[in-house]
Amino acid sequence: MKRYLLILLCLATALAAEPADSSEVQTSSDSPASNVATIREDRDYLDFSNMLIPITHEASMLSKYGVRNHRLHRGVDVRITMGEPIVAAFPGVVIVSKFNPGGYGHYVLVQHDNDIQTLYGHLSKREVKVGDKLLPGDIVGLGGNSGRTTGPHLHFEIRYGKYNIDPETVVDFPHWELTEGASRISKSDVITAHRKMQAKLKNEDYIVKEGDTLESIAAWFNISVMSLCRTNNISPENPLKVGQRLRGSSP
Ligand SMILES: [Zn+2]
Repeated sequence: MKRYLLILLCLATALAAEPADSSEVQTSSDSPASNVATIREDRDYLDFSNMLIPITHEASMLSKYGVRNHRLHRGVDVRITMGEPIVAAFPGVVIVSKFNPGGYGHYVLVQHDNDIQTLYGHLSKREVKVGDKLLPGDIVGLGGNSGRTTGPHLHFEIRYGKYNIDPETVVDFPHWELTEGASRISKSDVITAHRKMQAKLKNEDYIVKEGDTLESIAAWFNISVMSLCRTNNISPENPLKVGQRLRGSSP
């Protein structure tokens, strides 16, 4: 913990010493720790240059953000060892801390300033509960392989409102450093990239699995049940068959 406090102190000092371009800087007075370096934003850009990387070492990428096996992989998978500390990237408040056996496993979702959230998944142990206020570097949990995984890894997401940000636009995990562009992430690029990914997903066939419902598949495509039925020329009364292919939009 001392190490992170030190990093934090350095960040705070660097921030204080920065020349006065603070006209662009918005700080929220009701932020959980408004005296601590956090995400800055202006009208068009988000500044992640004060982010703390949630793992403490260089790490190879196991899976990228994007469409994978007909699903949108909303974050990145990064190689870690069992039980290592996973730390909060920014000051924030824990809004979810729970176990989802079929998905993220033990996971923690943290709300930060400026509509940013970060998610830490597949933990072996959660160290925080809903409502906890965190500082960057606070341990949210221990790395693991809970939920749907094939081995220990951290699943890490960055969200801006309802949009996902590809974490690789901000963090270079193999070199354990922030990217050159991290200080200037264009909001409109984030929204465009997210929409492109949604469109790509809709053009993929979805193959029905055991336990799927029209509602769950419609939610996956981000469309209504009615439009799912219309696009695929099926009736809501007909049962789904495992292996059946469904589309999210007309070809
Ligand atoms: Zn993942």
